[in-house]
Amino acid sequence: MVIDRLFSGLRRLREERTLRRRAIPDDLWNLTVARYPFLSNRSADDLAGLRELATLFLAEKEFTGTQGLAITDEIAVAIAAQACLPILRLGLDHYNGFVGIVVHPDEVVARREVMDEDGVVHHYDETVTGEAMEGGPVMLSWHDVATAGESAEWGYNVVIHEFAHVLDTGDGAADGIPPLPDRAARDAWAAVIDAEFNAFCGQVDAGEDTLLDPYGAEGVDEFFAVASEVFFVAPGDLRLEHPALYDLFSGYYKQTP
Ligand SMILES: [Zn+2]
Repeated sequence: MVIDRLFSGLRRLREERTLRRRAIPDDLWNLTVARYPFLSNRSADDLAGLRELATLFLAEKEFTGTQGLAITDEIAVAIAAQACLPILRLGLDHYNGFVGIVVHPDEVVARREVMDEDGVVHHYDETVTGEAMEGGPVMLSWHDVATAGESAEWGYNVVIHEFAHVLDTGDGAADGIPPLPDRAARDAWAAVIDAEFNAFCGQVDAGEDTLLDPYGAEGVDEFFAVASEVFFVAPGDLRLEHPALYDLFSGYYKQTP
């Protein structure tokens, strides 16, 4: 216990030093918040907490640009601010499983392979704007990150999508169930999200227009990620159309955006 307290005390000192020495400059922070309505809508308290988390996030994570993209402060802060929104009340420890963030100028074509039931491997190309690999880097398209202010209107946000996957896989399984305190909490979560997911797949199959990206019908893990996007960037819409999901997420994320 004494040792635990010593370590958490030392850690707090280290964090305070990072916050002092590597604070995000006022101008850059204000510009970042202003370009994303789902950030500028937040209370002054939320934004102060988000700025601290983003500062610590920037000190811990390693950014790499591809295809000649230089990682500017503008890019790094835009990503950090959005990535830290889901963990505003959960803490940065939830992102301990990875260090690298790879930023492409735009969407990329990823070569995929699948094996069919006869054991034959098929190759195909998939265009992706982001990807979160377990323990590996989080990949993002800067074009999609940069335009997240406009795309919030239709509930699209690549950063929140990929970091929702990071949270989901925090317990080792990509199953739409983030780490929860106990079995009862996991069962309660599964009951709500499975019912919502099944109803959603029915709507998508019927060709109905949906608030959530139809991509969410690919699996319950994708459903959790696309619903998390809407929870943070168009929360009023989610509360109206999926109140049970909104309540589930506000309990987990400890936020009512
Ligand atoms: Zn996904």
